[in-house]
Amino acid sequence: MFRRKRHTFRTVMIAGLIAVWGPICSRAQVIQTPGEQVNFARYATYEEMMDYLLKIQAQCTEMVLSDFGVTIEGRQQPYVVFSRPIVTRPFEAFISGKPILVLAANVHGNEKTIRESLLILVREFAAVGSEMNKLLDKLVVLIAPSINPDGFVRNTRGNATGADLNRDYTKLEQPASRNYAQNILHSWHPHIYMDGHNDGSQPYNLCYQGPATALADQRLTDICDREIFPFIDKEMEAAGYRSWYYAGGNRQAWTGIPWAHTRSVINYGGVINSIAILFESPEQDPQDGVLSGLVACKALVKYVVQNPDKIMNLVNQARRETIELGQKARGQIPVQEELGPKDYKVSYLISEERGAVRKLVRVTNADLNIQPVILKSRPLPYAYILEPRAFQAVEFIKQHKVTIEVLQQATKLEVEAYQINNIEYKNDNQHPTAIAVTLADEPVKQILTFPAGSYVIRTGQVMGRIIAGMLEPETADNVVYWNTMDAFLSHFPPRPPAVQRAAGTYRPGPQRRSPPAIIPIFKLMTPTPLPIKILKY
Ligand SMILES: [Zn+2]
Repeated sequence: MFRRKRHTFRTVMIAGLIAVWGPICSRAQVIQTPGEQVNFARYATYEEMMDYLLKIQAQCTEMVLSDFGVTIEGRQQPYVVFSRPIVTRPFEAFISGKPILVLAANVHGNEKTIRESLLILVREFAAVGSEMNKLLDKLVVLIAPSINPDGFVRNTRGNATGADLNRDYTKLEQPASRNYAQNILHSWHPHIYMDGHNDGSQPYNLCYQGPATALADQRLTDICDREIFPFIDKEMEAAGYRSWYYAGGNRQAWTGIPWAHTRSVINYGGVINSIAILFESPEQDPQDGVLSGLVACKALVKYVVQNPDKIMNLVNQARRETIELGQKARGQIPVQEELGPKDYKVSYLISEERGAVRKLVRVTNADLNIQPVILKSRPLPYAYILEPRAFQAVEFIKQHKVTIEVLQQATKLEVEAYQINNIEYKNDNQHPTAIAVTLADEPVKQILTFPAGSYVIRTGQVMGRIIAGMLEPETADNVVYWNTMDAFLSHFPPRPPAVQRAAGTYRPGPQRRSPPAIIPIFKLMTPTPLPIKILKY
């Protein structure tokens, strides 16, 4: 009886909506996420999420539902595309002349809040006549609510193997992060994207940050700090929520992402020339978390729609200049950096614990430590040259949709390489013998004849910054560090045996220095025509 009444009510309501908005997508408005049905006492399961997305797709002609890959355990990684007129593949997005925005979440499986916000946002874009739906003439938006469904079902940060996918964007060893990088970032080339997490500091409902590495074009970070984040703050405040930078502060300073490496997607995104934005939802009431995340995502959409030319011009300029710098072999590559304060002061709230009582304190005139400060840099070459034996490093790089060329005949070239002063083994991110090198300051200059089959990786391409980051051995994430060139460093002490390493008793033997201990990553410093052809893959 009760069921029947409810059905009747729904039917009447749907008929009413159809009358107002026309036949397309109208019923999507009444489909609730499983989380909404219980005031976010729980989140949609993986199966419920897939079912929900399909239900909305079944009622909307302006949405394209797909997946960007399959996880280790065979779960699809769903995404939807909205635009007006609809866009079904990247090429159509590029010719639309509109900004491309990607909103993604749940790369850390147990960080679920913004995943739920994005599920609601999908419905809002699908509902004809709604605030979000009206904006579809002005942008292409992709929503990928769950990058790591295997971690979601386990309620773990990592995936089914325990790997942290948001430390995998340089190595791309894990299918889920590789799928996201290759089939979303390197296929759709978003001008701007957001990656949603659960961390940050109370009393804020949402924390944010842009790319935090000097390796990225700093204008991509500056637009976040100067315009996008203040815009989000206003929208959040109007909705009764608070927002401020990730990660946390004290009475003297607020400090952002404390690492410069490109293995996390925000820095990776900056280095591949997108405006990459981190959203973190701090601990709070689940409903506040989901709804404030929704407001922040909508604010980002509105900013993009209100400033399409600014965003596209800035990103396209960064991409074009990256190509030009490489082609002219001009500029420096930061290889070591640290965070310093911005050249202005800020005020913010901190939540201090006094015994059992939490108290809000407003801190004024404080430092904002989010500015990358370069400690050491190396000159940008025209091209990096790797011998045929360095195929593992080439495999590593080419995952990033980089153009790699191959010498068709033996060629004599003047090149530079770096002498190794020291090697330190690091147990880092599931790699027990990552290799951190210390190099001589001055490069070794040589005239060498490279055989046919040698690899040439020119820096004059949109991916020029990530190429430089991966081929300069002193950065935090590169082909040497991640063990793809171990075979060429064999004149150094062998890797410490695990037992001795664990016991701290390993002492390296004497080092042999012949042949000259240079890392065989050769830098061609001047623009030079070469007998090369593109490596097909
Ligand atoms: Zn996270």
